[in-house]
Amino acid sequence: MTATRHEYGEGHRIMVTGGAGFVGSHLVDALLGRGASVVAVDNLVTGAKENLAHLADEPRFAFVEADVSQPLPRDPALEDRFDAIMHFASPASPVDFARIPIAILRVGSVATLQLLDRAVRDRARFVMASTSETYGDPLVHPQPETYWGNVNPIGTRSCYDEAKRFAEAAVMAYHRELGLDCGIVRIFNTYGERMRPDDGRVIPTFIEQAVHGKPLTVHGTGQQTRSICHVSDLVRGIVALLDSGELGPVNCGTEQEMTMRELAETIVRLTGSNSDIQYVDRPSDDPERRRPDLTKARAVLGYEAKVAADEGLRRTIAYFAHR
Ligand code: NAD
Ligand code: UDP
Repeated sequence: MTATRHEYGEGHRIMVTGGAGFVGSHLVDALLGRGASVVAVDNLVTGAKENLAHLADEPRFAFVEADVSQPLPRDPALEDRFDAIMHFASPASPVDFARIPIAILRVGSVATLQLLDRAVRDRARFVMASTSETYGDPLVHPQPETYWGNVNPIGTRSCYDEAKRFAEAAVMAYHRELGLDCGIVRIFNTYGERMRPDDGRVIPTFIEQAVHGKPLTVHGTGQQTRSICHVSDLVRGIVALLDSGELGPVNCGTEQEMTMRELAETIVRLTGSNSDIQYVDRPSDDPERRRPDLTKARAVLGYEAKVAADEGLRRTIAYFAHR
């Protein structure tokens, strides 16, 4: 099927589930910035209303507090047709995989099906936030979209990995059987302003530890790698996918791969902290190496990350200091 390019902006209504979260709230800002009307739907399980507080007087924005794993509530903001539905609701921190695995399975599965049905009804484009976790603990490096992954289906991360893999399968089924216009973005480790300091993911954890002079808790030997992406780069990629009409899946992130020990040392340096590094137990199934192959993102979206790790981390550290 050929992709149809279409610029989403003025005159379009877009629903963003998870819009009070870290990535979702930046996506809401980007879409409003292009002139679209945006409805964020979020149950605040890991998000925060403060992430949207600056939009209180914005007439093109509405917030609906609701669990998208339940049928959508009757709310005037949800009545009219949407031009695009962007499903970004899901806890994403490994700490939450242990705390609320059932809710994570539901928002990846039940919620995705319900929102796909709504997209069919509205003839909306449906964009789904998938993840590098679909590759599990990858045996291929870097990871191209053609790699099927190495996921433990019953491990501690499986609620998230398998829910996202189900969601991708659901999107593909609606696309193939019903011709729904869809896009899947596989997001790699993204960080930045509006992450919660107690989120549990590595960057907010290390920054909080460093600024408070506590030891940075590196899991295992710290030789495992991630490729970190500032949220401003990710959101440009997501909006490019929305406009592109591409189905994907498309990886989005950076090739700035580093070990977790290097990340800890970088954050100690950038915060000017005296903190030590403490090596602690590593959680089970923690992926060993992760870096996206961005060939497809470059080719179909013209995507290129712009923010270097030091710069993005500086901005995030400044945000944490001033919140
Ligand atoms: P986040 O926790 O900050 O945001 C998720 C948002 O979804 C929160 O506001 C939360 O309250 C909301 N939510 C969760 N379950 C819900 C439900 N049932 N109903 C309504 N709202 C619900 O996390 P994030 O990092 O911003 O992640 C956003 C999306 O991007 C997620 O789908 C996540 O899987 C995906 N993703 C993020 C990363 C990353 O590195 N940040 C990587 C891969 C994928
Ligand atoms: N990690 C760490 N110390 C922490 C939190 C995380 O060393 O306090 C490691 C974790 O084991 C993983 C990497 O940092 O190897 C990234 O973890 P995160 O939870 O941010 O996301 P993941 O990529 O595992 O989903």
